[in-house]
Amino acid sequence: MVFTAPSWVPKLPFDPPDSIPISEFMLNEDYGRHPLHHARPPFTCGLSGAEYSALEVRDRVESLTRGLSKELGWHPNKGTEWDKVIGVFSLNTIDTLTLSWAVHSLSGISSPANAAYGRAELVHQLKSSGSKALFTCTPLLSLALEAAAESGIPRNRVYLLELPKEATGGLSPPSDIKTVDQLIDDGAKLPPVEKLKWTKGQGARQTAFLCYSSGTSGLPKGVMISHRNVISNVLQIATFEKPYRDSRREPGSKYTYTEIALGLLPQSHIYALVVICHATTWRGDQVINLPKFEIAQFLTAIQRYNINTLFLVPPIIIAMAKNKPVLDKFDLRSVGQIFTGAAPLGGETADELQKQYPAWKIRQGYGLTETSTVICSTPVDDIWFGSSGSLLPAVEAKIVSIEGNEITGYDQPGELVVKSPSVVLGYLNNEKANKETFQDGWMRTGDEAVVKKGPKGTEHIWIVDRIKELIKVKGLQVAPAELEAHILTHPAVADCTVIPVPDDKAGEVPKAYVVKSASVGLEEGERMLARSIQKHVEEHKARHKWLKGGVEFIDVIPKSPSGKILRRMLRDKDREQRRQK
Ligand code: AMP
Repeated sequence: MVFTAPSWVPKLPFDPPDSIPISEFMLNEDYGRHPLHHARPPFTCGLSGAEYSALEVRDRVESLTRGLSKELGWHPNKGTEWDKVIGVFSLNTIDTLTLSWAVHSLSGISSPANAAYGRAELVHQLKSSGSKALFTCTPLLSLALEAAAESGIPRNRVYLLELPKEATGGLSPPSDIKTVDQLIDDGAKLPPVEKLKWTKGQGARQTAFLCYSSGTSGLPKGVMISHRNVISNVLQIATFEKPYRDSRREPGSKYTYTEIALGLLPQSHIYALVVICHATTWRGDQVINLPKFEIAQFLTAIQRYNINTLFLVPPIIIAMAKNKPVLDKFDLRSVGQIFTGAAPLGGETADELQKQYPAWKIRQGYGLTETSTVICSTPVDDIWFGSSGSLLPAVEAKIVSIEGNEITGYDQPGELVVKSPSVVLGYLNNEKANKETFQDGWMRTGDEAVVKKGPKGTEHIWIVDRIKELIKVKGLQVAPAELEAHILTHPAVADCTVIPVPDDKAGEVPKAYVVKSASVGLEEGERMLARSIQKHVEEHKARHKWLKGGVEFIDVIPKSPSGKILRRMLRDKDREQRRQK
């Protein structure tokens, strides 16, 4: 049984174009974007108030395209996209998308890395993506320079995206490191680069963003997201929201309603990258950027900029629900809706916040890096807490049992398998993972779901569990295989496995089961050894990967006869221990 969008959802207005880069779709009015002269400034710095109008952003992209072409020697119609890959390792800035779109105009690829990464994690991504230049920001510069050197990127190929002084901690960068602003100024004095000469379908074949995800198992892998993938998801999101937007249009106005959205989530993650930075700005909305979550700063920004839509992840919603006295100090009346995604939001948390703010529409979306994000989303007038909503237009979904049989009814769990023009090209240089994940035009999500009939009689997708080996900490990915490989380098570890365990604040955190190689048997010795293993992770891995779930010693890691780790057995063991506490 193939599920599709409910009947009230309009069809896509046109086939997502397959022969243009994202930059053209975003900055040229021919493809339906909100008129540039009437759009709000796409990105505003929530700390300094700095912003550029939509028309200025278009001009900045044009100048940066010229500046980058000269600086890096990249020509729009020479070489392949893999010769023109940039790494982006930065906190959110108002120019990060200016940079991506300029690289796209040169037929290149942008590979965004999590700003929480440590040196080794960044080196892995820079090497695996084949990045030729690295763009960073002042607070991350010294780490970026070390990682660049280790990845073969020379110092004169490291550049800075500008952050306001409120976010740089008073640091001033060395004068030999060029800024994106300088490249834009240089480019403004140069003649235009040659127009792109793409063949039919090139936008559907060519990678635009190389994001990293571990998929259903193994280490983080480069996910090849094409130009058409992003364009498709933007159109899918905009079309799903169109009836709501139309209902809010000013009487007599020829322009659709636009609004102000929060840009707090990291622009390196697909949720922010596609939903906030592309879908929102394409519709003419304004994004208020913040470099990181700090509750007072976040609430101040809502009040100061009259933000209407908050794009969040569950841990922030939990923090809001638990901090009513703090929230009460701010005027949050501009907020109309909250979107959550990247990890499950419990119905109780949504209920708790709804009681405090009855007028807010609390909506949940579900998606993956591998689907260029959104597959389904809660309809604005059909909210059902716990559900991830209805399918977007042009998405098809099936539920498949463990035995591989298609489930034909409601309320029966199985793996969610999807088809959508936003399903990515595949993993870079990883045929095994591609074969496992992308099969006959369908994509296995590795998530367990059920389809239920909602209060209004339409189909809703509920994500009920995760089958794949992924841990989501504050909505960010942690690949157990990556931590296991690292923990095994500790001299006292003979074998180990890492599983997710529930956490009130982060949703989930990693816990390690370890088989000792040394003969440390005493209780006291184990406590010290556990701490030493935790420190070994803390010294090399981003904070969200730390073993906050603890380390437990066992005699043997349970494995199937074929050697597959029986993680579910350990998850059950941990669940039982928690129940008994
Ligand atoms: P990422 O590629 O980092 O976006 O991670 C995608 C994974 O996050 C999905 O496969 C799910 O396991 C999880 N996820 C995303 N959104 C939701 C949601 N609304 N509810 C439950 N899990 C989610």
